[in-house]
Amino acid sequence: MDAPKNKKNIIVPVELGLDSTFTFACTREMPCFTRCCKNAHVTLTPFDIIRMKHRLGMSSDEFLYKYTTLGHIDKTELPVPIIKMQENGENTCPFLGDSGCSIYEDRPLTCRYYPIATGIFHDKDLAANKRFFALIKEDYCLGHKLGKEITIKEWRNSQGIIPYDKANIGWSELILKRKSLWPSIKIPEKSLQIFFMGCYNIDRFRRFVFDSPFLNVYIVSEERVKKISEDDLAMLDFAMDWLKTTLLGENRLKMREQVDEAEAIEAD
Ligand code: SF4
Ligand code: SF4
Repeated sequence: MDAPKNKKNIIVPVELGLDSTFTFACTREMPCFTRCCKNAHVTLTPFDIIRMKHRLGMSSDEFLYKYTTLGHIDKTELPVPIIKMQENGENTCPFLGDSGCSIYEDRPLTCRYYPIATGIFHDKDLAANKRFFALIKEDYCLGHKLGKEITIKEWRNSQGIIPYDKANIGWSELILKRKSLWPSIKIPEKSLQIFFMGCYNIDRFRRFVFDSPFLNVYIVSEERVKKISEDDLAMLDFAMDWLKTTLLGENRLKMREQVDEAEAIEAD
């Protein structure tokens, strides 16, 4: 649960690192159990959507249409899906069941991190991307008063966060590049649409690759074609290569020589 823009004051303004400690506990016996799943601001990463749509047995198109609304990544115009809270008076998350989160094993990254907020930046001195953390403190959350001391590193391990960071690395890099390399350049609407499709609508992107002249335009090995046809994570990795090629000119995917760029495929 991210801090919505009007609730920034719930973030404790102290930057934390992996070895920083905080005190926290969260159990279903607490009187505040599931309070944090109401009126929550849950942004979704590419891997969240893959996990959740598999869990729910639906396509990414269906998932996005039914469960999300559109937001923007902080300080950019890059789109990001946000879970659409129910209009039931309490603004409850649609995945909240009688005994807690009904998709707990596949809950999104934001929910896994809570009560930690996180971000990533490019450290020019180290020439590397670095993650930073901060504590979110909301009055209703009793976990801060009752818990034991834990490091951020331990929290990340206990919440199964590492595979998410790994799968989302290309997406994070795209966002960082947008923030650092070309912040003042306006991105055309078409580019924002292909960013959205490649990052969040993996099934639509797969149709785009296989039902358009895409594979006549780009050189893709047979082995990779087979992998992306059946594996969403491989497809996400491929989508990131395509976005970095198309949006950043990084040349991750090579075009066939005889193809004139002018006849290159158009994403619908
Ligand atoms: S302790 Fe905090 S995170 Fe846990 S259920 Fe209560 S409000 Fe939610
Ligand atoms: S996805 Fe689950 S943990 Fe996250 S807000 Fe919804 S019900 Fe709560």
